[in-house]
This record gives sequence, structure tokens and C-alpha cells, in this order.
Amino acid sequence: MLEIAGLDAFYGDAQALHGVDLRVGEGEVVTLVGRNGAGKTTLLRAVMGLHHDVRGTITFDGEDITAMPPQHRARRGLGWVQDDRGIYASLSVEENLTLPPVTDPAKAWSTEQVYQAFPVLADRRRAAGTTLSGGEQQMLAMARVLRTGARLLLLDEPSEGLAPVIVQLIRDILLKIKAQGTTVLLVEQNVKFAASVADRHYVLAQGAVATDLDNAEFTARQDELLEYLGM
Ligand code: ATP
Repeated sequence: MLEIAGLDAFYGDAQALHGVDLRVGEGEVVTLVGRNGAGKTTLLRAVMGLHHDVRGTITFDGEDITAMPPQHRARRGLGWVQDDRGIYASLSVEENLTLPPVTDPAKAWSTEQVYQAFPVLADRRRAAGTTLSGGEQQMLAMARVLRTGARLLLLDEPSEGLAPVIVQLIRDILLKIKAQGTTVLLVEQNVKFAASVADRHYVLAQGAVATDLDNAEFTARQDELLEYLGM
């Protein structure tokens, strides 16, 4: 579904990504793990078209999208969930949910489907964005993108800053999303969380792919990875 070949990314004279090759197959959940500054967010932003200074190619469903603006990528089915979650504080849960336009009516989750998958959002549909916990904000941010019709979810550290019980909830939701056929590429620093949701993993180091592992290999090497990642 997504294929990245020889991707370089730059911030002015500084090169943040060096020849990254990566694939995500339809229905897969794939993580990007790596230390702070390894280039994970830059890679995710480049896939969404939010980081322009790149060389190499990004292909989605066989189409070269490297030079395509983000809104056109959204129409093709890419959905971006930023790390600060981007919830509008003055709007209600339902207003936040229904604000972004549906980009693919055939794939878009209905509001009812969202509320079935995320019952906590149904309970809080009239609550203001300001009153949501970190976990509820994360759920709303994911639900909002699914409602637009995204088929590839790009998630930047969904477990960051959340209490362990909420991290479990987010994990269950990711597994539910996967079961519904949505493909996910996520940045994740939490190795245990990554191992519990994903099919495959790319370990980034200094802007390059150090290794890619299936989940069995990744799980077997968890302790080594924790040490390597400095956690
Ligand atoms: P983190 O987990 O800390 O977000 P990351 O793996 O997502 O790390 P990036 O944020 O993609 O890494 O950063 C990759 C490299 O690009 C780092 O060396 C970082 O300092 C640099 N970088 C990131 N954003 C900018 C920016 N706006 N201007 C200049 N350099 C940047």
C-alpha cells in the first residue's frame, strides 16, 4: 500500500533522513521506533506531505505521491494524527469529530460506527474539548481521522504521556481498527506497546533504517532494543 524508496529529508543544510526504504502492506500495523531525533516524526510528516524538503519517492496504492499536497494525500486515504492530537478546546467532542470534511465517503466511518468503537466518546459527545483527558483526546484524534475515510492511519506516539490503563485502551482500539482492515504506520517509543500491536517494526537510527524486524523477532529482542533505545 505504501512504499518509500531512497527517502532523504532536509532541514536547510541538515539532513534528517538518509535513504530510507520502507513498505507497509494493506492491513498491516507497522511501527517506527528509535531514539529521540532518529527521524521518526520527519518520516511520518514526509509521508503526509507536511515535510517538503525531500528526495526519493513515496508511492501510495501504486501512485507516486512524493510531490502531492497533503489535502490530496488525504483524499487518497492517508490520515494524519499529530502528536499533540490537535483537539479544538472550545468545541465539543462531536463538533471536533465532524469538523474535518469526509474525503472518501465509501471508506468513512459513520458517527454511529465511531461511537460504537469508542463508547467513551459517545458518553462524552457534548463535553468540551478542554475537559477531555489525554487518553480521550487520543481516541478522539484517531476517531476523527477514521471518520474522514482514511485507509492508512499515520499516528505519532499514540501512547505518549498516558497512564498504563489508558495505554491498554488505546492498544485495544488499535487492534479493533486493524481488525476492521485499516492500515497503520505509527511512531512508538514504548517497545512493549509496539510489540503488542504491530506486525512489523522499523528501527531508525540517525535518520536511516538500522533494521527491520517482524514482530516475533522484535519481541524476542525486546530487552536488547530497550537498552539500544536507551529506555
Ligand atoms: P523525537 O522522538 O524526539 O520526536 P524523532 O525520531 O521523531 O525524535 P525528528 O523529530 O524527526 O526525530 O528529528 C530528526 C532530526 O531532525 C533531528 O536531528 C532533529 O534535531 C532535526 N529536526 C527536527 N525538526 C527540525 C526543525 N524544525 N528544524 C531543524 N531540525 C529539525
